[in-house]
Amino acid sequence: AKAAGRNTMRFFDPRMQAAVSSRVALEADLRNGLLRGEFVVYHQPQFDTHLKLIGAEALVRWRHPARGLICPGEFIALAEETGLIVPLGGWMLERACAHLARWARRAETRELTLAANVSIRQFRQAGFVEEVLDVLARTGANPARLKLELTESLLISDVESTVATMAALKRAGVGFSLDDFGTGYSSLAYLKRLPLDQLKIDRSFVRDITTDANDAAIARTIIALGHSLGLAIIAEGVETEEQRQLLQENGCDAFQGFLLGPPAAA
Ligand code: C2E
Ligand code: CA
Ligand code: CA
Ligand code: CA
Repeated sequence: AKAAGRNTMRFFDPRMQAAVSSRVALEADLRNGLLRGEFVVYHQPQFDTHLKLIGAEALVRWRHPARGLICPGEFIALAEETGLIVPLGGWMLERACAHLARWARRAETRELTLAANVSIRQFRQAGFVEEVLDVLARTGANPARLKLELTESLLISDVESTVATMAALKRAGVGFSLDDFGTGYSSLAYLKRLPLDQLKIDRSFVRDITTDANDAAIARTIIALGHSLGLAIIAEGVETEEQRQLLQENGCDAFQGFLLGPPAAA
């Protein structure tokens, strides 16, 4: 075994073995969880500068029979690697449209938008446009109230097809928000080509915005850039009134975060 070198040795590392088997177990669990309907939808509210409720973001939770409620940080990466994000994301989209259709029946909720996170894997799936149009038609949801949150990873490759997919859905009235803006690969040249409606300032820039001059400068720049491209700006992870005020003074249009409301069962 010694002669075989480091790489071979690592294969027999019991910790590694444990990590591999727990990954395999989690994947099987995830697959079963989908079949058994263990996933639930949470909504986190979004507010405008007058603190009026304007909509929500749909966030998935896993109600695991043995482990309790699990947050997406523990399973989304694996769901993406295994492709299970495609059926899971499809289910979230379906639930979002069903909620929108229900909201449309009451005057107080009719105008609210609902944002659904779309993974790159799901977005690139052949037939994604048709799937979205189909679920909108089936549920009767107003496409103008549905917002799809995409991440900058979409910009690494195949911008041409990204633009085509977005344009097809935009023609139907669906809106787009670029999530976690500033953390990824955005090239400004590509950014201007995407038919977006909104940029979402990542939580990492909001966290220290009142104490870190660099973060404040980045947030200001994102707001100015977005506005000059005709986009609305929403900040995520707003936890204090000081953060919210500073963002608002700099022109931020909307807010989401624990200050105004944590994610709660839909
Ligand atoms: P995200 O899209 O950036 O969602 C925002 C995350 O920030 C949520 O975590 C939310 O609970 C958390 N958050 C909200 N307000 C605050 C705040 O004031 N302070 C702090 N510290 N955190 C706040 P969550 O629900 O655990 O989701 C984590 C990530 O998992 C999401 O990040 C998103 O990337 C992904 N995700 C969630 N649901 C879905 C889904 O249905 N499909 C896909 N593809 N990804 C999802
Ligand atoms: Ca999001
Ligand atoms: Ca985000
Ligand atoms: Ca984020």
